[in-house]
Amino acid sequence: MSSARKPDWLKMRPPSGREFAGIRETLRERNLHTVCEEANCPNLGECWSGGAGTGEGEGGTATFMLMGDRCSRACNFCDVQTGGMEPLDPDEPANVAEAIAEIGLDYVVLTSVDRDDLPDQGAGHFAETIREIKARHPGILVEVLIPDFQGEEHLVRKIIDADPDVIAHNVETVSRLQFPVRDRRAGYEQSLGVLEQVERESDIYTKTSIMLGHGEYDHEVYQTLADCRERGVDIVTLGQYLRPSRTHLEVKRYDHPDKYETWRRVAEEELGFLYCASGPMVRSSYKAGELFVDAILR
Ligand code: SF4
Ligand code: SF4
Repeated sequence: MSSARKPDWLKMRPPSGREFAGIRETLRERNLHTVCEEANCPNLGECWSGGAGTGEGEGGTATFMLMGDRCSRACNFCDVQTGGMEPLDPDEPANVAEAIAEIGLDYVVLTSVDRDDLPDQGAGHFAETIREIKARHPGILVEVLIPDFQGEEHLVRKIIDADPDVIAHNVETVSRLQFPVRDRRAGYEQSLGVLEQVERESDIYTKTSIMLGHGEYDHEVYQTLADCRERGVDIVTLGQYLRPSRTHLEVKRYDHPDKYETWRRVAEEELGFLYCASGPMVRSSYKAGELFVDAILR
């Protein structure tokens, strides 16, 4: 399908229900942010109502966004506000750990805005949050979706040393479209380098995500999957780019769900990814716990 009119399979289920209200209240009380809300994720209703979580907790799945709701970068696909950076909240690592207990999660995803303004780009704060969570909930699985830290290996190593279960970093799109899709400080090789370092220096699972709909060709998507696999990346997700507003990049293409299923088979059966979550509504953290646990028990 090549028309840029939004097709029926992208209709969102609006957030509702007790779980949704409860999670939102807990987050507000503790001054915490989720990427689910900040990025207007289309799965919010499903995830927060418990339909896309690990399947064990009552409270569903939420992806915490650390270090504020303002980013030092300005990617042209992203709805997070740029600039006006605020100091880090020193209580955030403990607050996130306590909120997880209150909500009842057994698989948590942490991500952050980019903080190029900070001396360590926020790597220490990120690592401290992982440690707080692991100290309070020894059985919990922690997935982190990290910035590129401008490719500085000693900063990526801070995250590795905190020992999360999955380290994700998104290449976002194919090599040719990195700019205009991403901020100019990001880059294809830089992102692959982050993932490769994690593979080289640890046994931690690695994960990346690719958005479709920016005008990429199939051979470029295949090459991106192959490049990630060549660097050892274990898990990949593919989803449809949705334009957050008229000031963001327009959608060049909507692919049918069958096309996503084809990419899933290519990724898993031909290229050997541990698993591939692929579908128009899939986002990096979609069913993260459920799919990860299924895959490692396979
Ligand atoms: Fe939140 Fe991830 Fe679910 Fe989106 S897919 S609502 S970001 S947990
Ligand atoms: Fe959004 Fe880009 Fe900032 Fe990530 S780095 S939060 S994608 S603007």
